[in-house]
Amino acid sequence: MTTNLLDFDLDGLAVFCERLGEKRFRATQLFRWIHQKGVANFDEMTDLAKSLREKIKVSCSVTALTVISQHESQDGTIKWLFDVGAGNAVEAVFIPETDRGTLCVSSQAGCAVGCRFCSTGHQGFSRNLSTAEIIAQLWFAEHFLRKKLGTSERVISNVVMMGMGEPLQNYAALIPALRTMLDDHGYGLSRRRVTVSTSGVVPMMERLGVDCPVALAVSLHAPNDALRDHLVPLNKKYPLSELMHACHQYLTHAPRDFVTFEYCMLDGVNDTQEHAQQLIHLVQQDGRGTSWCKFNLIPFNPFPASGLRRSPHAAVQAFAARLNAASIVTTVRKTRGDDIDAACGQLAGDVMDRTDAKNRMEKLRDQGRRVIPVISDSGIRG
Ligand code: SF4
Repeated sequence: MTTNLLDFDLDGLAVFCERLGEKRFRATQLFRWIHQKGVANFDEMTDLAKSLREKIKVSCSVTALTVISQHESQDGTIKWLFDVGAGNAVEAVFIPETDRGTLCVSSQAGCAVGCRFCSTGHQGFSRNLSTAEIIAQLWFAEHFLRKKLGTSERVISNVVMMGMGEPLQNYAALIPALRTMLDDHGYGLSRRRVTVSTSGVVPMMERLGVDCPVALAVSLHAPNDALRDHLVPLNKKYPLSELMHACHQYLTHAPRDFVTFEYCMLDGVNDTQEHAQQLIHLVQQDGRGTSWCKFNLIPFNPFPASGLRRSPHAAVQAFAARLNAASIVTTVRKTRGDDIDAACGQLAGDVMDRTDAKNRMEKLRDQGRRVIPVISDSGIRG
């Protein structure tokens, strides 16, 4: 069994190298080869001492995830399905825009929170991803895209932990992955360009603020406890009053930041003017005004098991107008990649929902509309 070096942030790699009798600067060199250059073959790391290369070849690897399928939308969105073993699969999605390239990353196979409107939540929870499995999504996507676009410049400028899973229920693996994203010797992303999205794991929000205060998004989806208990079952454990308090506490660690509230618009469920008014009241409680938060309204991606419908365009616009009129900055998320699949978690659901996972994966492989890149031990071959 070899040690997968994708499991370490730079401090962790330095400790690992020290145990091998190597100085910290060697760990920095190794880290840069892996994350900045996308190299997985130790023989290609030419400025590392041969003795170190020989040492780590015996006991270490840079092991990426196997790509099951890759679907590319006409709008440039790319969705990958990765095999994480035992019939489990996770998704990552690249969303290109004129001024940025965003990668949406998964933190768990499945999810235990069980939000009603979420395809992943309907699949149940399989397991936490390791740090290596989280960072491997970025490692793969970044270096694949550089090859595809023929550039040595960074392609992914933003990471959102909004894929499958509740990141704050996989905290121990999340933190080294975030630190690797932020590290100048890793991906060099600024703190505000890495977003952790949580359904409201209150105690871990406080810890995140202390340990790694990246941008915070909260999956709100309801303006009162009765409705939120129904849509986001975690609300029964951490009700809105605690959640709002945790948001304000978080901002004490990240002054000048704001919290983004994600709000999935569900026809006839949470999309009326009365709901909008309740939200305004919720964020203004305690005389805090509205400048500390933003709202992102998300058109629901229907899937059969949900029994829910997408709010009509007019209802979304009227909802946004009401919030904006109360000086709450509100955006409506553009739907991207509609032609390659619907709700987040659906591709993986095709694998996880059925017992014959191996055949399902084969099928998804065949359905991939682009050639699946080959990952060799020396990196990514486009
Ligand atoms: S919305 Fe997020 S927290 Fe809720 S079930 Fe889906 S993945 Fe889990």
